[in-house]
Amino acid sequence: MINPERFCNNCIMPESKMVPLNDSGICRYCADHKKIVLKGEDQLLALFNKFTNKHNKYDCLVNISGGRDSAYALLSLVKDYRLKVLAVNYANPFTDEQAKRNIARMVSILGVDLVQFELPKNIHKRILKNNIRAWFKNPSPAMIPAVCIGCKIIWPDIIKIAKKNNITCIVNGGNPYEYTSFKKELLGVSHRAGLNRTYAQNILGLGKEALKNLSYLKPQFLPATIKGYLFANQYAPGSRLLAGDIERIDLFHYLPWREDNVISRIKKELDWNSPKDLDSTWRFDCQIGHLKDYMYMKTLGFTEKTDFFSIMVREGLMSRGEALERISRENKIHNDKIEKLFSAIGINNIKLT
Ligand SMILES: [Zn+2]
Repeated sequence: MINPERFCNNCIMPESKMVPLNDSGICRYCADHKKIVLKGEDQLLALFNKFTNKHNKYDCLVNISGGRDSAYALLSLVKDYRLKVLAVNYANPFTDEQAKRNIARMVSILGVDLVQFELPKNIHKRILKNNIRAWFKNPSPAMIPAVCIGCKIIWPDIIKIAKKNNITCIVNGGNPYEYTSFKKELLGVSHRAGLNRTYAQNILGLGKEALKNLSYLKPQFLPATIKGYLFANQYAPGSRLLAGDIERIDLFHYLPWREDNVISRIKKELDWNSPKDLDSTWRFDCQIGHLKDYMYMKTLGFTEKTDFFSIMVREGLMSRGEALERISRENKIHNDKIEKLFSAIGINNIKLT
């Protein structure tokens, strides 16, 4: 593992070749940081007005994972905005047991309908196994998101469920503080570039990376991989083409996201919980998250959580001291959980160091 000696004086990014510090000890993400501006509740209400149909059984669809932000999105839409919500969940074979319990509880407490779906032919497990093996052959931080390709393939199914139910509004629990800057840079895209402008550049960067390690490009997984990237986000061409008439809303791009408020409300109102053996309440819902933490720590010396807390510090949502304290507690690498994942997918010849 990489052990940094210095951290940015403003946030908690560790100094490295990739994240150099300037003469004042500040990283470029802090130096270039522009305050995140929310679109506001009025705009959110205008979208609900435009894209929900009063005569339809459902006003909107929410994709839930059992994690905290999608749980809050569901809660808020039902209780605060009184919308008729259809909850959809991809029965990800790597869902944490606590996340499954959270899903069952929240739909029952809120009285919402739930549609669960699976991907055919064990594709998620097979593609994950291939991409993990490929990564360990040549560990590159740019290719770590390839272990999450399974959850990118699900968008066509979610859009189909929306269309079948005449729903033209899909709401996600995404928040703007989660958009990591360093991932784009690993693919040769500036950290200043916006999500809607960088899709093509990202794909080009990924293509170049995959060509360096052909294990990612096994013919049997190519259709699923291409599909995943065609639907990766709302700006991707697949999403535009298939769901041009469906509005996709990230709730916390409109409403303020406050971690303590999110957690306290879902705990109190949905009986939501995170696993007792983990210090963090963030992104435990999929077991692959532990592997990603390992991969980022191994190659960059920090994780997505370091980046996330750093953005919160820049935004004034957390003090630097609190971020440093929390990262020392929450940034643990859980090799036992990664080994459990490996054994579940039949990988037994990769040693974690
Ligand atoms: Zn910084």
